[in-house]
Amino acid sequence: MIDLGIYPGTAELSGDMLSIGGCRIDELAEEYGTPLIVVDEEALRSRAREYVNAFKSRHERSEVLFAAKSFPSASVIKVLSQEGCGVDVASRGELEIALAAGSAPSRMVLHGNAKRDSDISEAIGAGVGYVVIDNLDDVERISRLASKPVPALLRVSPSVAASTHSAMITGQDSSKFGIPSYQVADAIAAIRREPLIDLKGLHAHIGSQVLDLDQFEAEVEALAQYEHFEVYDLGGGLGVRYLSSDVVPSVDDYAECLVKAMHRYFDQNVQIMVEPGRSMIAKQVVTVYQVVTVKRSERVHVAVDGGMSDNLEVSLYGQPFEPAVFNHADQTELVDIVGQHCESGDTLVRDILVRKPSVGDLVVNPVTGAYCYTMRNNYNAALAAPIVFCGGSQSRLAVRRQTYEELLAREVLS
Ligand SMILES: *Cc1c(COP(=O)(O)O)cnc(C)c1O
Repeated sequence: MIDLGIYPGTAELSGDMLSIGGCRIDELAEEYGTPLIVVDEEALRSRAREYVNAFKSRHERSEVLFAAKSFPSASVIKVLSQEGCGVDVASRGELEIALAAGSAPSRMVLHGNAKRDSDISEAIGAGVGYVVIDNLDDVERISRLASKPVPALLRVSPSVAASTHSAMITGQDSSKFGIPSYQVADAIAAIRREPLIDLKGLHAHIGSQVLDLDQFEAEVEALAQYEHFEVYDLGGGLGVRYLSSDVVPSVDDYAECLVKAMHRYFDQNVQIMVEPGRSMIAKQVVTVYQVVTVKRSERVHVAVDGGMSDNLEVSLYGQPFEPAVFNHADQTELVDIVGQHCESGDTLVRDILVRKPSVGDLVVNPVTGAYCYTMRNNYNAALAAPIVFCGGSQSRLAVRRQTYEELLAREVLS
């Protein structure tokens, strides 16, 4: 019933209990409390190496940048930097986190469709590798804030409507991101008039949770229609398995597709960058909850001690998950697993067969590494969950649980 294939690489069952990095989740829950975000450090490191090797072995001048927004924790970014990844940051805040992680600024790229002066001046001051121009106001801002030429990329719409959830499509001409295809030539000309911008290349990102490699090939083909440059940042977007029934391309297939397409259209010496978020981190993380109540009526509602405060993917994108109950029950039961928040939409999954649950059992939701922690919120004054790294049968706290004092700390009561 439990498919370990969607769990982090070191996940194992010892009897009825799950362990990650050699740490039993019941012991982790006991030590750190629930909800708890568990990162498989070994799996994270090996995924980063897999990504870097997949590209470097096919194209020496390639760079893998982790999209910080998918899991903006300095602890995660530190590990990924140690394994050879750069960082894609989309705000001053993400830049601060990446700098705190010890990542080299020269291996960072600044994105954002609405960068303010402070985002741009901090990034220039830190010496990021490239600032990505998303609109003509960026051109004005960079020119005004720079004191020497700033290496830049221009984000263009590749006019590829990726077949993914509508909220995750970003590469069509009507998108709020980048310059629509028919204005790209004018934008390039406008940038070239600015002596303090050094336009090095183009950037595109077609969307997220993309499972059809042809769409990445179409992206490269679309970029090839513009004037050619020496740097191409192809964005992220590779999809991952959320359900045991999902079939997804491997990182090797993805790298093969992109590099082959780049070699078909561009100079062999071109610099290629990719920016995986979801496909780097999603599978390496699970969320552990405890069952608070089981209500058996028309449906069986198993309510856990978290929900949309730690995972908005379900209500925002309708993302399906496959959580499991870990206990010693022999029987199974068809249940809905719901959160603790005051919204009917606060559901982790409907109609899932699990071991017959009781109050106090542990529920583990796998594949929660991407876009869950980053969209955490304090709905119903829930406290942000801690992050624990596991590996070699040892656990270490990376981010501690928020406290009620912290929730109140910004109130200015008069
Ligand atoms: C969100 C984003 C990414 C990462 O996308 P994933 O689907 O998580 O791989 C990369 N680049 C840009 C510009 C993005 O906006």
